Amino acid sequence: MASNGGIQIPSRLPLLLTHEGVLLPGSTVRMSVDSARNMQLVKSRLLKGTSLKSTIIGVLPNTRDPQHHTDPLPSLHSIGTAGLAVQVVGSNWPKPHYTLLITGLCRFRVAQLLRDQPFAVAVVEQLDRLEQYTEGEQLDGELRELAQSFYQAAVQLVGMLDMSVPVVAKLRRLLDSLPRETLPDVLAAMIRTSNTEKLQVLNAVDLEERFKKTLPMLTRQIEGLKLLQKTRKPRPDDDKRVLAIRKGGVFPGRQFSLEEDGEDEDGDDMAVLERKVKEAAMPEPALHVCQKELKRLKKMPQSMPEYALTRNYLELMVELPWTKSTTDCLDIRAARVLLDNDHYALEKLKRRVLEYLAVRQLKSALKGPILCFVGPPGVGKTSVGRSIARTLGREFHRIALGGVCDQSDIRGHRRTYVGSMPGRIINGLKTVGVNNPVFLLDEVDKLGKSLQGDPAAALLEVLDPEQNHSFTDHYLNVPFDLSQVLFIATANTTATIPPALLDRMEVIQVPGYTQEEKVEIAHRHLIPHQLEQHGLTPQQLQIPQDTTQEIIIKYTREAGVRSLERKIGAICRAVAVKVAEGRKMWKAESSGESGAGPERVEKSEDSNIAAPPEMPIVIDHVALKDILGPHIFDMEVSGRLTLPGVAIGLAWTPLGGEIMFVEASRMEGEGQLTLTGQLGDVMKESAHLAISWLRSNAKTYHLTNIAGGADPLEGNDIHLHFPAGAVTKDGPSAGVTIVTCLASLFSGHLVRSDVAMTGEITLRGLVLPVGGIKDKVLAAHRAGLKRVILPKRNEKDLEEIPAHISAQLDFITASTLDEVLNAAFEGGFPAATITHPQITSKL
Ligand code: ADP
Repeated sequence: MASNGGIQIPSRLPLLLTHEGVLLPGSTVRMSVDSARNMQLVKSRLLKGTSLKSTIIGVLPNTRDPQHHTDPLPSLHSIGTAGLAVQVVGSNWPKPHYTLLITGLCRFRVAQLLRDQPFAVAVVEQLDRLEQYTEGEQLDGELRELAQSFYQAAVQLVGMLDMSVPVVAKLRRLLDSLPRETLPDVLAAMIRTSNTEKLQVLNAVDLEERFKKTLPMLTRQIEGLKLLQKTRKPRPDDDKRVLAIRKGGVFPGRQFSLEEDGEDEDGDDMAVLERKVKEAAMPEPALHVCQKELKRLKKMPQSMPEYALTRNYLELMVELPWTKSTTDCLDIRAARVLLDNDHYALEKLKRRVLEYLAVRQLKSALKGPILCFVGPPGVGKTSVGRSIARTLGREFHRIALGGVCDQSDIRGHRRTYVGSMPGRIINGLKTVGVNNPVFLLDEVDKLGKSLQGDPAAALLEVLDPEQNHSFTDHYLNVPFDLSQVLFIATANTTATIPPALLDRMEVIQVPGYTQEEKVEIAHRHLIPHQLEQHGLTPQQLQIPQDTTQEIIIKYTREAGVRSLERKIGAICRAVAVKVAEGRKMWKAESSGESGAGPERVEKSEDSNIAAPPEMPIVIDHVALKDILGPHIFDMEVSGRLTLPGVAIGLAWTPLGGEIMFVEASRMEGEGQLTLTGQLGDVMKESAHLAISWLRSNAKTYHLTNIAGGADPLEGNDIHLHFPAGAVTKDGPSAGVTIVTCLASLFSGHLVRSDVAMTGEITLRGLVLPVGGIKDKVLAAHRAGLKRVILPKRNEKDLEEIPAHISAQLDFITASTLDEVLNAAFEGGFPAATITHPQITSKL
């Protein structure tokens, strides 16, 4: 047994057969044991044995297929390491196994295999006799020189590591105190070596050979470190990784214990964390909390769940940008250029943004309102927000609020349970790493509410300049100053923004684009952007204006340009494939008939023929259909107006303006009114108002019921339907449309097929103003209608309509229903005489 650094192992040893990992004398390794033989050995020797002797086992590398552990043992490796089992841990998960901590003592050779079941036992011959050198005998001659150069290499290697890491310092001391002849084993176990290399070291029973085998490995490691140091400044972590130091290299008699080491490494981590806390420049309260937590952490065992929790907390605290900020570099003129370059049209929005920025420049600590861009999707709200950040030279971060209904999403979870997190604001700050970013609060109109508290209230606190300099996230539990953050909000509609929140914000409406604006945006921004994204050049793909128009009219129906952008993306993808194919084929036929490729992608089979690279693929009408498929939207306006009882209204939805068909029919019944098509209450009221007014004016307008009687409601039921049922239609602005539609039904006259209308009605037949005129007019124009009837008091809103659009439309302003009906029917109403006999006969 170990005595005075020497060692005597029993002559019979139970054998632990390992397929992975090689134990070398002088090192400690952890081994997982799950084969039947090895498990038996652990059970009957290590767990039952009482003497120290019984904990010495032979570890023998087993190169055979690990699947067949019950096979006889014909091809055992003959050299192994006797090891002392320091620790045995059993576990049943994921399958029964033991984990052994074994310290290698010395080499042995298998002299005779005594038995093989239930575990192998062999007579062994001890190979290393350490005392032979340590006690008296010195290495001589060549061996001595070899040992010396090995020692020097080892010193050099350790010298390249960070001495402030305790393990490294310990290793350095160990190098001097260990007998030279043990160094090859000790170092081979520590540095990065493959199992085969370790096996070679194990097999090198002869000391000289062992030195010679290990020295190149050492040199290789030194070279590797040198390279690493050349490329970057070493960090303690890197060294640890490179050296892959086994925790607690143990050598008989001169052990440096495992536990101590674990603590040391951890202690070092602590020192790093402590330093980071000092360097984070936190305000006093935060620093105080951090120091307290650090103290607690030091006393906590790592296995405690709270350890990880506290550690995560501290790591977040040191990462937060308490004082880090970017410097604003605002130049209003440059900002204007940048905004103009990034965005076409949007004049009102850009003007307001510039005003806002100018005021900020003059009065830097502006506690002004928060800008809120309200408009349909895809009109560039987010994109303008991003530009604002760029003009200011600030970081940009988008916080999506759609569907957030838990206030801890904003304000974080308290740090009382595992999985608690900071809220989105603090997380955002961590992501951008500065305390004055531009935060875009996206979709504030889609905030929800639930039992978990009202996120809007939490958001109020974030946005309130009086409070937000000491915003307290539940997770952080110390105030963080948000006053430098520039908040911008976006929404589709103001209707669902909580009033208190709306009060804090300055709403800027961003209406949808006209068709012409969309074409411009597509050609100036979307197409170049998509080309770049798909790795294409204008020399490879060209989309003419006509094609863009066709995409806008036939494939998209939106106020913004989002699906337009997607369609362009689809074209780019299709063309990218052609270009790639073309390149391949072009190469293959390089000197073939030149110019054989078609200029555009054609529907015919020869669209596969490669275009020469210098010929752009031009997307024309045919190619467009080929790529995007048949038209998605065909304006069937006139087709739908061939029966009395149909009229086109104009609706405003959060997605922009839309035309809306109102249909009515009647059948025999008892005067009941049925309404269908996702209606809000206001719409139902409008319908009742319209019917009442028509009944009271039935005589004047010659309106009759189904049987020709004077009361249109008598003896018949009426069904009013508002198609496109998915969108809830509310708002009173459909009043005039319902009246027109019913007037058409009751009179049998057709409504003009090129007219759309909007306006609220009163019982007395007056037409009241409504909102969203620009969006509605744009929708009518998009649909190809020619005449728009709107309330007289909305006349002023027409100024917002771009001149080229106004020029194509005929606006009729009306203050009474009489005027509306007159404008809606060909030749006026009720004087209209043009009826369609073939249609009326159908009624
Ligand atoms: P929103 O936030 O309003 O839903 P986005 O800002 O995400 O819309 O815009 C969608 C896409 O359309 C973006 O790629 C954006 O750059 C582009 N876009 C929108 N409006 C314009 C414009 N006026 N000029 C240039 N590009 C625009």
